[in-house]
Amino acid sequence: MNEYDAIIIGTGAAGGIVACVLAEAGKHVLLLERGAALTFADIGRDHLRNQRLAVYGHNAGPDVVGNPRVFVDPQGRSRVVKPYDLDYHNNAACLGGGTRVYGAQAWRFHPDDFRMASKYGVPDGSSLADWPISYEDLEPFYERAEWELGAAGDGESIQSRIPRKRNYPLPPVPPNPQTAALQTAAHQLGWITSPVPLLINTQSYAGRPACIECKYCVGFACPTDAKNGTQNTVIPRALATGNCDLKTSAVVESIETDNRGIVRGVSYFVDAQPRRETARSKIVIVSAGAIESARLLLNSHSSLHPAGLGNEYDQVGRNLQGHLYPRAYGISPARVFNGIGPGVTIATIQFNHDNPGIIGGGMLADDFIKPPIDFWYDSLPPDLPRWGIENKRFMRENFTRVLHVRGPVQDIPNPDGRVTIDNSVRDKYGIPVARLSGTTHPATVDAAEFMRERGEEWLRASGCEKIWSAQPGLVLSGRQHQAGTCRMGNDPRSSVTDEWGRVHAHNNLFVVDGSLHVTNGGFNPVLTIMALAYRSAEYIAARI
Ligand SMILES: Cc1cc2nc3c(=O)[nH]c(=O)nc-3n(C[C@H](O)[C@H](O)[C@H](O)COP(=O)(O)OP(=O)(O)OC[C@H]3O[C@@H](n4cnc5c(N)ncnc54)[C@H](O)[C@@H]3O)c2cc1C
Repeated sequence: MNEYDAIIIGTGAAGGIVACVLAEAGKHVLLLERGAALTFADIGRDHLRNQRLAVYGHNAGPDVVGNPRVFVDPQGRSRVVKPYDLDYHNNAACLGGGTRVYGAQAWRFHPDDFRMASKYGVPDGSSLADWPISYEDLEPFYERAEWELGAAGDGESIQSRIPRKRNYPLPPVPPNPQTAALQTAAHQLGWITSPVPLLINTQSYAGRPACIECKYCVGFACPTDAKNGTQNTVIPRALATGNCDLKTSAVVESIETDNRGIVRGVSYFVDAQPRRETARSKIVIVSAGAIESARLLLNSHSSLHPAGLGNEYDQVGRNLQGHLYPRAYGISPARVFNGIGPGVTIATIQFNHDNPGIIGGGMLADDFIKPPIDFWYDSLPPDLPRWGIENKRFMRENFTRVLHVRGPVQDIPNPDGRVTIDNSVRDKYGIPVARLSGTTHPATVDAAEFMRERGEEWLRASGCEKIWSAQPGLVLSGRQHQAGTCRMGNDPRSSVTDEWGRVHAHNNLFVVDGSLHVTNGGFNPVLTIMALAYRSAEYIAARI
């Protein structure tokens, strides 16, 4: 069978959900994923080669060989980068996409995150805009993601800021030694706190066991399948219907249009038999992640669409966003590290909005358990030598005493932070690669600096003796929280899709993934990507 109701490109946070909704609605779906279905053993436990600390390689794709990108630094110098290079802005490439190895923080965005331009105005040089939908439009779909995949948390603790109709299906992760110190300090400062919501089974749920609280969560696969990604929740459901054909190691090269410019299907390469194949469908849904979705639309050019699909107004690939991630560290008087995962237990959303002189703001939380080398790489005071006896002594005495707080800061989008195509560099199939250039807007750096100071303040109030942090700079924002490159809106001159993810001027072409985000919230983005995927998928299912 080579003629489908829908072809979905990518099996990550969004693609997996769309496949499930369409297949369960009786639609015949082809789900294409460029990566492999990685087992727990494939992903492994290498402390230096994982999706969080990729010093010598990474563990959830894409392959190092044959998948370059081009990165242009803020000084305008370009270079070819490999997937484990920070400037590659990788997420992951495997069944489940980023959700295979993510930390699974499952935040809803704040209602004001959907109306940033109305609330703050549009700073010079930025493309800050309101979403075409509101928090209230998305609220039922947030709830659906939380209940269908399985989220743990305590919604009542932040009900006054992020209202919800129904609590999480699972109780939050239990506190760790650092939780009480941070909670008491926040209380003294008058800050609101809550447990960190996670797509992790704190009790057995939907046929999968509870978390065993191991030390390997973010950047790794879960040994008991208690971390809920699309690969172990919605994709198996889609396959169980018999309506979904899944092809892994299948790299889509372009979206095919006919001589009237109408989308008819896709062409793709399958690794095992490296030849070009095609498939036809009524609808094509691009869910390849914010960088690769833009690349695919731009590479799908033809004489009728010389600049690529959806790119009549030069919007595809612009407004690349992610998060600056300010962090602060302090030496606590008591031992705070007990090695019990996942490690994130407490957050404050006190500063997501209404900070004088700041546009937006962000969330701060304690951190996932880090392997010692990650602590050494990321968390040492700047005045400590990186080697030698002094360093060893510090590691021995303080690895269990350093308190960490960190969190994502609302990106103020810059239209020049963007994905274009580099025709001079090609992947192993000869497809032109993504070229990443520009920076976030300076207002993002102001917000990050503000949040760095709040992090230090929190640690000081927690009784830490020595406190340190790094100052944020003006860089391109993207990486694992990449979003915004095909943003939704009502005006085709400033957006790529409508509020359902339908590409303007193409009735049967949709983008459904992080690319749609008009702004990326002051929170980890995945639950919003999932909620949007449910919303768009229901819309699409009713129309094919
Ligand atoms: C280590 C790590 C930790 C993270 N922790 C968190 C967290 O705690 N909370 C949170 O909110 N977010 C977290 N994230 C980010 C989160 O995983 C992403 O926001 C989310 O997965 C993005 O969803 P998406 O659907 O946009 O894209 P993805 O999940 O990236 O899925 C896109 C898929 O498309 C495939 N694809 C791309 N191009 C093609 C092509 N041409 N043909 C076929 N397939 C293609 C890719 O291989 C990929 O599988 C984390 C990510 C990582 C890597």
